[in-house]
Amino acid sequence: MTRPRFNRILLKLSGEALMGQGQFGIDPDAAAGLASEIAAAKAKGHELCLVVGGGNIFRGMAAAAKGFDRATADYMGMLATVMNALALQNALEKQGVDTRVMSAIPMASVSEPYIRRRALRHLEKGRIVLFAAGTGNPYFTTDTAAALRAAEMGCDALFKGTSVDGIYNADPKKKADATRYESLSFNKVLSDDLKVMDAAAVALCRDNNIPIVVFNIRQPGNLAEVIEGRGTATVVK
Ligand code: UDP
Repeated sequence: MTRPRFNRILLKLSGEALMGQGQFGIDPDAAAGLASEIAAAKAKGHELCLVVGGGNIFRGMAAAAKGFDRATADYMGMLATVMNALALQNALEKQGVDTRVMSAIPMASVSEPYIRRRALRHLEKGRIVLFAAGTGNPYFTTDTAAALRAAEMGCDALFKGTSVDGIYNADPKKKADATRYESLSFNKVLSDDLKVMDAAAVALCRDNNIPIVVFNIRQPGNLAEVIEGRGTATVVK
């Protein structure tokens, strides 16, 4: 199967990717593993930027269900994504990759503020930009932040790293005969309510013609393969 080779990519990772075998927080080995996957993909000559979630530390909706004020809880969730971005930055820089963290919530002593033109300049200079603090607004998710930044950065594709190698017609962990889609339309994802990314993120990608490439980030070497147009994935377009 052939897919295009994408040049500028936004990679979305959920916070859970940083937990490793744990149930919470950041595992340094998991961060190092992700960093080497990202560094290998970068070495192929792509421009890369990243949005990382915060679900390994704090999720606004879950906290609101337990009585937290929703907006306050969402701000806490956004702060969690800043911790994750710093952890990934640290792991990437240990591997000699030049990075910048840009936060949607200004945090002058910790990261740069998000400024679109400056982010574009970092990408042109070959740095990996880690977008932290989601969109900076409560009631959104980091999936939506990923779609938004992908559009702003003029990315060719949004790569969604998951624990399965694409989108299936049923849960492959529960049904042995589930089959994987090679490609799907945005509208099919929305009408069938397939749990790829949240609906706002899918609609934003649809309206801006940004394909979503769903692939397995846990399989070593896979990101570098899929980014080159090889390997196993589902493309939503
Ligand atoms: N969040 C938010 N606005 C955003 C992005 C994130 O309020 O633009 C908050 C929200 O509370 C969310 C939390 O940050 O639950 C962590 O992000 P998310 O749940 O998307 O992380 P993931 O599931 O990808 O780890």
